[in-house]
Amino acid sequence: CGIVGYIGHRNAWEIIIKGLKRLEYRGYDSAGVALVNGNMNIYKKTGKVSDLENFADSADLAGSLGMGHTRWATHGEPSDRNAHPHLSRNQKLAIVHNGIIENYASIKEMLIQKGHTFTSDTDTEVLIKLIEQIQLEGETDLRDAVRMALTHVTGAFAIVIASQEEPDLLIAARKGSPMVIGIGEDEYFIASDASPIVEYTKQVYYPEDNVLVYLNRDQMEIRDLTNLELTPYIQELELEL
Ligand code: GLU
Repeated sequence: CGIVGYIGHRNAWEIIIKGLKRLEYRGYDSAGVALVNGNMNIYKKTGKVSDLENFADSADLAGSLGMGHTRWATHGEPSDRNAHPHLSRNQKLAIVHNGIIENYASIKEMLIQKGHTFTSDTDTEVLIKLIEQIQLEGETDLRDAVRMALTHVTGAFAIVIASQEEPDLLIAARKGSPMVIGIGEDEYFIASDASPIVEYTKQVYYPEDNVLVYLNRDQMEIRDLTNLELTPYIQELELEL
């Protein structure tokens, strides 16, 4: 029920964990984080964000790109294996997702026929494997594969995607589920609401439905599902006193 993403120069883990705690009021049953630092490191666990911290205590928490998730299960029981992030078959692509992919069952059937196996019961895992399959079949780059995959899915979602092979790229998109992008100095933040972002920057962009946000450390590009580049409407956050 909450998403936090970070790309920049600071330690992503700390920003993500702090942000997930600010989103705890939204309710959740499990939490997880993906960190890209040469590897794709995934930590996920049922329970509280503090349980995840304990679980990952002595692990490798380096990395200046990552994303975190608190899950409110809709497809698949609350469990470690259903917690996000979810991975592609080659384990190099990760996704966090809030919302529901309504037509996941038919896409899953198609992917099983193409040889995919699934390690969770979630609708979310179907989307990351669809993206991987589009990349495999079309030799498309990740940005295009995500964009094309989103033309196949119905439902409400907020997603963030990271790749071990693209250490300077975080992709975000939404339809019907909340998301805000915080714009810093050579760093960007993604969150379900502004509360994880306010202490770092007041410059924000609220992505419209069906807009893809491509974040590099020094630039944000936004495009619609037809790949047309758009101009983001950047706002100043108003302080709530
Ligand atoms: N539908 C997804 C799941 O059940 C995401 C739920 C959420 O919004 O946290 O895993």
